[in-house]
Amino acid sequence: MNTETMWTDFLAIAREEMGSRAVDTWLVAMHLARWDLATKTAYLHTPNSFVKDWVKNKYSDFLERHLARLLGEERIKILFVDDAVLPAYGVGISEPLSQPLVIVPAVRALTRQQRKRKDSDVVMLHEEYRFDNFVVGPHNSLAYAAAHAVSEKLGTLYNPLFLYGKSGLGKTHLLHAIGNSVRESARPCRILYQSANRFVTEFIKAIRFDTVYQFEAQYKSIDLLLVDDVQSLSNKEQTQEAFFHIFNVLHQARKQIVFTSDSLPSDIAGLADRVRSRLESGLVADISEPTLETKIAIVKKKSEQQGVVMHDDVAEYIASIGTSNVRDLEGALIRVFAVASLTKQAITVELARQALARHGEQKPVPQELDPVMVGRQVAGYYKISFDELRSQSRVKELTMARHVAMFLMKRLTNCSLRDISKCLARRDHSTVKHAVDKMERMVHDDQELLRSVKEIERQLLR
Ligand code: ADP
Ligand code: MG
Repeated sequence: MNTETMWTDFLAIAREEMGSRAVDTWLVAMHLARWDLATKTAYLHTPNSFVKDWVKNKYSDFLERHLARLLGEERIKILFVDDAVLPAYGVGISEPLSQPLVIVPAVRALTRQQRKRKDSDVVMLHEEYRFDNFVVGPHNSLAYAAAHAVSEKLGTLYNPLFLYGKSGLGKTHLLHAIGNSVRESARPCRILYQSANRFVTEFIKAIRFDTVYQFEAQYKSIDLLLVDDVQSLSNKEQTQEAFFHIFNVLHQARKQIVFTSDSLPSDIAGLADRVRSRLESGLVADISEPTLETKIAIVKKKSEQQGVVMHDDVAEYIASIGTSNVRDLEGALIRVFAVASLTKQAITVELARQALARHGEQKPVPQELDPVMVGRQVAGYYKISFDELRSQSRVKELTMARHVAMFLMKRLTNCSLRDISKCLARRDHSTVKHAVDKMERMVHDDQELLRSVKEIERQLLR
């Protein structure tokens, strides 16, 4: 497996665990350029220092944990590389691996860790998902109370606990919160969090490699099994069979099991009756859509966590923009933070409005972008440094990138031609005018160029 495929796999996991918005906003712009087995270092390239700092701050743990797992390592280091400051053109493209990668599937990774750890085993828990940062409102109070109760008294109260609700409403969060809370209680306990999807994949692999027995045995050593999105077992008869078997063994041994799903067991299509009745046999608790009050509370809590003081009017504005999905609400908040941070402005209702304006009628207002941001984005896109963009070199690639930069600066900011010429260290405004005119003609004829320009623009307005 090469670094590119590995990064694609990682993105799929990230999407599953933290939602597409965060992934699309931050992670897709990055790539895994190199894995150095000797020093156990993964080189992650970021398009600019802003993305680099943000991702490093917010997602380092997540990246380390999941990349380590994919690489079959206990621990890895991550080196973040800012592509915008690379010295030479072309550096930062994926380099071939010195050693082929070995993928350790989740279950095998678990046994590795089991061998190493004595008392408690924790696999794949997302540490940020906790009870104390989960906002409780009328829409989720039953699910929250049940999850909390289960975490205090494993295996006896509600077993299984089945949480269901539409996407983005906090099911996965609660599932991890149970795991984290049990882990912190210092009770010796083997915990496994796994998406049902992964369960299916692992099971299919076990069939292929004739290791079904080991596969089942590994699950049976678990004390707390957290299975996310069981709806994906639908129509997979053979996997359901294995699942049913494992479930029965754990249940009889009074091991706690918690499921989440996007619908009620009775609404999951293609589920064998006995599996369905098993899923329903404990407590079934729903999570519905949050009310405006709860959404405001969520916005405030999330801001607080980022160390941002959010005024009531802004929180209310963000909470009321129409989404009932907490994941989207979080995405909106990330965008507001990002725009505020990029443009160094205070977070006001006006800024939130600009940051959240949809493409189309309410195009994000151009004045929120400054020419330097545009320049950096263009440089990042072409994998050159900002200094090269501003240099006097006439290397073809640099000239091209410079033209694109001038064109987009004119198009997306309120800067005059003179401002742009200063920003890019050009002789005067006529140089810019010439470049912009030329670009205007070229994007008509050159599809490839047009695509690039559109893509950079999309990245900037996102
Ligand atoms: P689901 O699994 O139901 O699709 P998630 O648990 O992944 O949803 O939640 C999506 C995002 O919303 C997560 O980042 C989660 O932390 C956040 N979230 C959802 N509900 C709440 C809540 N009540 N309080 C705080 N954050 C929440
Ligand atoms: Mg989920």
